[in-house]
Amino acid sequence: MNAAFNGSAWKTYRRLLTFAKPYRGLLVLAALAALVEAAGSSLFLWLMKPITDETFVSKNMEFAAWLPAAIIAVFLVRGIAGYLTDMSMGRAARSVARDLRVRVLGKYLRLPGSRFDAEPVPSMLVRLGSDSDQVAQAAVDALKTMVQQSLQVIGALCIMLYISWQVTISVLVLAPPLAFVMNKVAKRYRRVSHRIQESGAQLLQAADQTLSNQQEVKVYGAQPEELRRYATLADNNLRLAMKVEATRGLSSALVQMMGAIGLAGLLLLAGHEAAAGRLTAGGFVSLMVSMIGIIPALKSLTSVQNVLQRGVASAERLFSVLDAPDEMDTGLRPLARARGMIEFRDVSARYPGQAKPALEHISFVARPGTVTAIVGRSGSGKSTLIKLIPRFYEPEGGQILVDGVPLQEYALADLRRQIALVGQQVMLFDGSVTANVAYGEMRSADPQALDKALRDAHAMEFIEQLPERKDTPIGVKGSRLSGGQRQRLALARAMLKDAPILILDEATAALDNESERLVQDALTQLMPDRTTLVIAHRLSTIEHADQVLVLDHGKLVEQGTHAELLARGGLYAQLHGAQFREAQ
Ligand code: ATP
Ligand code: MG
Repeated sequence: MNAAFNGSAWKTYRRLLTFAKPYRGLLVLAALAALVEAAGSSLFLWLMKPITDETFVSKNMEFAAWLPAAIIAVFLVRGIAGYLTDMSMGRAARSVARDLRVRVLGKYLRLPGSRFDAEPVPSMLVRLGSDSDQVAQAAVDALKTMVQQSLQVIGALCIMLYISWQVTISVLVLAPPLAFVMNKVAKRYRRVSHRIQESGAQLLQAADQTLSNQQEVKVYGAQPEELRRYATLADNNLRLAMKVEATRGLSSALVQMMGAIGLAGLLLLAGHEAAAGRLTAGGFVSLMVSMIGIIPALKSLTSVQNVLQRGVASAERLFSVLDAPDEMDTGLRPLARARGMIEFRDVSARYPGQAKPALEHISFVARPGTVTAIVGRSGSGKSTLIKLIPRFYEPEGGQILVDGVPLQEYALADLRRQIALVGQQVMLFDGSVTANVAYGEMRSADPQALDKALRDAHAMEFIEQLPERKDTPIGVKGSRLSGGQRQRLALARAMLKDAPILILDEATAALDNESERLVQDALTQLMPDRTTLVIAHRLSTIEHADQVLVLDHGKLVEQGTHAELLARGGLYAQLHGAQFREAQ
């Protein structure tokens, strides 16, 4: 087995075992129980000799009477020991899976934002789901099989040697070819198992995409297309699964064949030994039962290889997640409450793997108590610009300062505590209204402040209509609410945070004109002591801004107040003109 298990696989496996360390006690218990279990099995094999010789050959009825009782006693002890092994091993394995899952999710939350562009969420789900399970199986279940079955084999071999070492040693010449076959099978298995896991992730990804967009699929009549895509992937998966089955079936057939050859050899030799008076009928039965018992044990030992290979492949993927560098958080400067002065100095940004920068040479200052509106065509870089402030992405060049200090110098959590953000896509969670608004560090927020935030965001009106008011569950991702309602909850969350920097990315786009104006009024009341950055298309929001930044293809092309920019007759005037005509 060592040949199929190269150096790096061993390294991974050893690292995996460190995850089982906290469950050392359980593992020791399992090992002891496995010993008892193997001893029970061996005892039974050994009993076959007196059973045959006394009951059938010598017809010693007195002695034969206690044998059935002995068998029951042996199996009772063996059964209890087996149960203990399974339970303690199972407990340890599931615990390892649980620990890994929790660690990997924690890690994902510490990875930089760009990771989420590179690795789709369904593939992350596979890591958390089946990869964790398979790793646990490899770390512990495989260990269990190895210990249990090896003990079984060793026990049976000892019995065989005890009964007739001559026969046993002659049969053992079969071991090297057996090892050779097992090794070949393991190599093939490893090749296939890596691919089958990739294929599983692809299947999940395809299903996720189709099911999450079921409305679009139905409206555009894309069911056959989606099904075809899924079926192609499923076919691929089936093909790989069949390869696994074929490998497994072949290895099992080969091992059985070797067993039969062994048995035939045994029969030949045993006849010879019996003739020489060195082997009784009972001894022969005992030998044969031992050999038959060794075969399934060897079979499980070959399949352990597969579990190990699969587990190591999964572990390598999980470790690559755990080893990825966290988002940079080397800042030491504490920040209790910022004044909210934001300064961009010649900032450029580029998404990983993108040829064209998303932002180029952006410089501006946003002062506390002012509103900065950011406008520009779709894809001009508005959202990218604001994502740099909470450091979801790092700029490629230039520097961003808050209160005159570069962002990297602050502790990341402190920096983010200064920012309330309502993004273009509202993120809500499965939970009550209260849990969604008083979220994260605001969990223990004052109920009166919560009510005020809900009223200011004009969310109270619809919450009053909900069956359980603020305690109503809003469904996964807020699916039981309308788009505008979701947006109002997100606004309430931002208002409750009462942070010195408020960032709104199309945060009122889903509201009707009337509610938007009311929410704007509430925001204006909040504004005197904070810095607000707002991305909006609607003029009402922009007209009152202290400054407007106009982005085009990632460049800051115009900057000034609404009136100044209109008078200039540039891109802003053009965008404004288009909207004005629309409104007519
Ligand atoms: P909109 O008004 O449509 O929201 P925007 O001005 O907010 O547009 P951004 O989201 O900042 O535009 O995108 C700017 C550019 O960066 C676009 O060309 C877009 O294709 C690209 N981009 C945005 N997000 C990513 C990403 N995660 N990976 C790669 N490129 C991205
Ligand atoms: Mg955007």
